[in-house]
Amino acid sequence: MNNKLYGNLIFELSRQGRRGYSLPENRFGDYKLADMPDVLKRENEAQLPECDEMTVVRHYTNHSANNFGVNNGFYPLGSCTMKYNPVINEEIAAMREFAGLHPLQPADTCQGALEVYYNLQQMLAALTGLKEFTLNPCAGAHGELTGLMVIRSYHLSRGDEKRTKVLIPDSAHGTNPASAAVCGLDVVEVKSLSDGTVDVEDLKTKLSDEVCAMMMTNPNTLGLFEKQIPEIQKLVHECGGLMYYDGANLNPMLGVCRPGDMGFDVMHINLHKTFSTPHGGGGPGSGPVGVREGLEQFLPTPRVVLDGEDALRVECGDFEKSLGSVGSFFGNFGVMLRAYSYILSLGAENIKMVGPLATLNANYIKEQLKDVYCLPIDGLCKHEFVFDGLKDKSTGVTTMDVAKRLLDYGYHAPTIYFPLLFHESLMIEPTENESKETIDGFIAVMRKIAEEAKSNPEEVKSAPHNTPIGRVDDVLAAKNPVLTWKQMNA
Ligand SMILES: *Cc1c(COP(=O)(O)O)cnc(C)c1O
Repeated sequence: MNNKLYGNLIFELSRQGRRGYSLPENRFGDYKLADMPDVLKRENEAQLPECDEMTVVRHYTNHSANNFGVNNGFYPLGSCTMKYNPVINEEIAAMREFAGLHPLQPADTCQGALEVYYNLQQMLAALTGLKEFTLNPCAGAHGELTGLMVIRSYHLSRGDEKRTKVLIPDSAHGTNPASAAVCGLDVVEVKSLSDGTVDVEDLKTKLSDEVCAMMMTNPNTLGLFEKQIPEIQKLVHECGGLMYYDGANLNPMLGVCRPGDMGFDVMHINLHKTFSTPHGGGGPGSGPVGVREGLEQFLPTPRVVLDGEDALRVECGDFEKSLGSVGSFFGNFGVMLRAYSYILSLGAENIKMVGPLATLNANYIKEQLKDVYCLPIDGLCKHEFVFDGLKDKSTGVTTMDVAKRLLDYGYHAPTIYFPLLFHESLMIEPTENESKETIDGFIAVMRKIAEEAKSNPEEVKSAPHNTPIGRVDDVLAAKNPVLTWKQMNA
């Protein structure tokens, strides 16, 4: 990479009078700038960068090469399921017949797209054991909010207005309490046992006729299967609350077990985690919400419904009890196409391999590293697990240092300092896609860093050394980010 070019802003590369384009001939005859109304004219020159084409191409190409994605290397970001997105997904999502659709076009001109939407709903229902899905929410958190709104609508439809409390385990993803708060509900935290699962005795003290719902993530954010679900769902249902399943971690469950069979009433799925789709950096997502029988009338519109035998139509507001719209039109259709392509590519049999392989990979890494990294909760994990920093605490090397050093070796860092149950959380999720060689390479580097922490702690503490930018000040970067360029003379 041309390091001298890289790092410069396109404005700094600008030289007066340089051109990378030639304008087409004026097609409007002898129209003059003077004829344009003054309100439409700039007061000052536009101050656009002036560069030749090659400079522009190099500038952006070099910047693009600084992105790290699953297509660059191992990306064990716990809780995020950064799985490989097969190329066929992109080909299908890019087809003109899909990408060129307009959301307002008449249903009889886009039956194929409606069929994808409809079939995907059915597939998700079959995979989760729930009755009906909406694909409209655009992210996991958006699905949580939609799901809680469904639950609230259900209680209100029965005239039960005092149910304002949402029970959430202390291991939950931050979006759970945030969604409950946005929905206008009160969060009640439920403690975890020392084995990382929900403390049922603590839960019992928080049950009342004010409970709206209990939100559970399973496997939870420690990668552990919540074995007490049968008892928990019974207790919550007995006091009139509904059970909400945060299905962002559905990956190890695919084809193995179903939230609907466990007694959950409402759930969301992250298509952009469990069903491939490139994500991260706030890119387009999809957080479908599924409900058990009896709750489907509360789902948001628009909905795609069967019209007679084989035609599909869109219903926008005919549902008396529906929440109405939760976003624009149908959500992110491109993400749905990728998920649909992914499910069909694997097929009903192969999809059952996803969970066991993801689980095997996570346990293999855990077992290979637990003599040098601190494993606070031992035993079988599902698709991910959490270390609590290095085992040898005498070196002063923190989880942050380990994460930064991994970048030097070409790996994306795991999730760090989450979950909040431990001080030095390092949350590793390899997914099912990786080869044994890739995983062994990662294990070797993690062991090497543990060695370096003893032999040369300063090297680790000052990492990264091989990236275009060294260690940033986390606080300043979050609180005072400089994201725009100010013109000198504007
Ligand atoms: C990722 C995740 C979410 C939120 O999903 P977004 O699409 O990022 O909004 C919620 N819960 C859990 C457990 C997650 O891992």
